[in-house]
Amino acid sequence: MSLKPLTILLASPRGFCAGVTRAIQIVTLALEKYHPPVYVRHEIVHNRFVVNSLANKGAVFVNELDEVPDGATVIFSAHGVPLKVKEEAKRRKLNVIDATCPLVEKVHKEARKNYKNGVKTLLIGHKGHPEVIGTMGQIPADSIMLLSSLNDIDSIPESWTNVSYVTQTTLSLDETDSFLTKLKEKFPTLQKPHGNDICYATTNRQRAVKSIAKKCDMVLVIGAPNSSNSKRLAEVAKEAGCPSSRLVQRAENVDWNEIQKIDTLGVTAGASAPQVLVRELLDEANKRFDVSLKEYVEVTETVKFALPAALTEL
Ligand code: SF4
Repeated sequence: MSLKPLTILLASPRGFCAGVTRAIQIVTLALEKYHPPVYVRHEIVHNRFVVNSLANKGAVFVNELDEVPDGATVIFSAHGVPLKVKEEAKRRKLNVIDATCPLVEKVHKEARKNYKNGVKTLLIGHKGHPEVIGTMGQIPADSIMLLSSLNDIDSIPESWTNVSYVTQTTLSLDETDSFLTKLKEKFPTLQKPHGNDICYATTNRQRAVKSIAKKCDMVLVIGAPNSSNSKRLAEVAKEAGCPSSRLVQRAENVDWNEIQKIDTLGVTAGASAPQVLVRELLDEANKRFDVSLKEYVEVTETVKFALPAALTEL
């Protein structure tokens, strides 16, 4: 029986960013240097496949530092941590390796600089996301306010006149613009961070999915349900003109009956999803369809981040 033709448009760049690559490398090298168990506070990156493979090598994932024995090695995830977590680790003499992405650290520095200069910080981001918790925890609570929806702008205290903003690194570019438009109406002298807080990887993956969205009947985004940048990719695909988009963890979660009804499928992957999961999805598609594959390269990435000094000799 002949297979139904299916055109697959592959967005590029997709998958791992430099911050995620570095965080995984940090856990791998720490296991080599300090030997298991090495503790990791929170999922090192939001991807079960990655977390399970590091757990199999001896990484122990914990929610809080009280689960880490005194004197043990602990790694902070790529999303960053509040200052009080660093202080607690120091007090308990834990051997800390910080895998916070340097681009998240840049946002932390902006918030701390604002506080030092007497400027209130407005953080545009998603409530409860670890990166947002980490950024909120850089300065006292009465100096920073989270804006999760446009309506939150109406609740900014009257006394806050000297204000600046920062953002979560993985937001939708278009959604953030609507926050900034409303904020600038309310605060004509609104100060801004030095350079964009939405990171290069988020920007590039959104641009790439936009470039294929209109040509596709559906876009599949490989990523975890708790991965902010992956969720944004699924939203951006629809906003950019694709009739439907789906966020799937891996090939086994794809509803192939749905794909039988379409001609052109877009595929991308969030910054915390490994390429092996994209390959797996393409292999499964090839078993079911007569696939014609086209890659759309929006930009070629060359960004790399240095490892912490404690691990560089490896
Ligand atoms: Fe860093 Fe951006 Fe990757 Fe997050 S998505 S780890 S901020 S490069």
